[in-house]
Amino acid sequence: MLKGSDSLHEECGVFGVYGCKDAARLTFLGLYSLQHRGQESAGIVSWDGAHLCVVKNEGLVSEVFTQDNISYLKGNSAIGHVRYSTTGSNNPNNIQPLYAKTSKGNFALAHNGNLTNAASLFQKFKSSGALFQSTVDSEVILHLISQSSKAELMEVLKDALAKIQGAFSLVILGKDCLVVARDTYGFRPLVLGQLDGGHVVSSESCAFDLMGAKYLREVKPGEIIIFSKDGIQSDQIPVSTRLGMCIFELVYFSRPDSLIFGEDVYAVRKEFGRILAKEHPVEADLVMAIPDSGNSAALGYSEASGIPFEFGMTRNHYIGRTFIQPQQKIRDLGVKIKLNPIKTLLAGKRVIVVDDSLVRGTTARQRVTAIRRAGAKEVHLRISSPPITHPCHFGIDTPKQEKLIAHQKSLAEIRRYVDADTLGYLSLEGMLSVVKKYKSSEYCQGCFTGKYPLKVKNKGKFSLETGKIKLYAEKD
Ligand code: AMP
Repeated sequence: MLKGSDSLHEECGVFGVYGCKDAARLTFLGLYSLQHRGQESAGIVSWDGAHLCVVKNEGLVSEVFTQDNISYLKGNSAIGHVRYSTTGSNNPNNIQPLYAKTSKGNFALAHNGNLTNAASLFQKFKSSGALFQSTVDSEVILHLISQSSKAELMEVLKDALAKIQGAFSLVILGKDCLVVARDTYGFRPLVLGQLDGGHVVSSESCAFDLMGAKYLREVKPGEIIIFSKDGIQSDQIPVSTRLGMCIFELVYFSRPDSLIFGEDVYAVRKEFGRILAKEHPVEADLVMAIPDSGNSAALGYSEASGIPFEFGMTRNHYIGRTFIQPQQKIRDLGVKIKLNPIKTLLAGKRVIVVDDSLVRGTTARQRVTAIRRAGAKEVHLRISSPPITHPCHFGIDTPKQEKLIAHQKSLAEIRRYVDADTLGYLSLEGMLSVVKKYKSSEYCQGCFTGKYPLKVKNKGKFSLETGKIKLYAEKD
């Protein structure tokens, strides 16, 4: 996602390897598969048997790593991170993995998620004289590790991680050990795999496919795992909370070829489309998707309605990032270059267009306009998730609530704004009926309902730059 862009932004992706030859190269491949989760910066840290070796920079995975700098990252264990900033400014010190020499040893850390009590912890550490290198919430975890009164690593981690609140899927690399941990709500995904006698851990399972790793299981909510030469040790963060996995991972974030929260993302999205077709039927000549976000749901809609699926728009996959600028005029041009409707297919047709979500409504409005210009007689917009009415406080950079179209406008007003003949959203009940492994009440649905698994006292974002607490959340 682009800096300065108007829509929501992806969060981060983390990857880790323990006990596999060429761990950094595997991590590089893993980050390639997780690139959709963050395009601002990328980094890998490896343990070469004596040191933690670091390569990180702004840019895409393919831009940051070269044959040369990856060969510097020796060793059989490594961690990696791709980032879109959800806290902290775009500052080189914020590029993860973070690295610190703590009282418990040297550690590198990569984090996906947002901590909701980082600002108050930051204030506390700062007033006791602690130095901070970055302005990301993740750095407080390294301070908590360093200041823990416990001695043994698992006890240190239990002590430190019990003090943070909010969302975290973590990989931490130390001397001869890899630590993996997930918050007790399970907000963000984290999965374990096996490769060549070693282990891999990833935000999403799609990364395992690329390197031929075997999917083992999810890291359990609240679980801490330490891989070391002494074997594998697993324990729980000693805090009890309800579960709160992010349903939006299934709607949009995760790749369709991943297994997330024990669900097959592609199948879930297709089922969303099937239910959407039952909830909002309409007579039409064809069903098409807004590529790629609407693809799976559009197929489901087509199957359930019996209306043929067509590729109504062609996507140009070769637009360099440099071309896409934040300025509105150039961005509009970027939109046209990216997707072009097929006029001969759409002219005179009644078209059902499916996308996964409406945030500000900008994308849908542009696409519906383009489809009309291509000659479509009717355009029926179908959205395979409920209206987004509230911001996310747990790792997704949503715009302010006032900018969310479903917060601002009624259904009829949204339909008029996007210029569709009809508009239908998937119902909350319809969406939740699809998930099977966990109960629907075990998902965070905050962006659709405003009810979060954590009480959010002061809405908004916190900034570690100013140390001002603009957001503070605590457990129920
Ligand atoms: P908007 O144009 O603001 O209504 O954004 C909705 C479009 O952005 C849809 O096509 C979604 O697939 C896509 N989208 C939804 N969530 C995100 C996100 N977090 N980051 C980037 N794009 C998103």
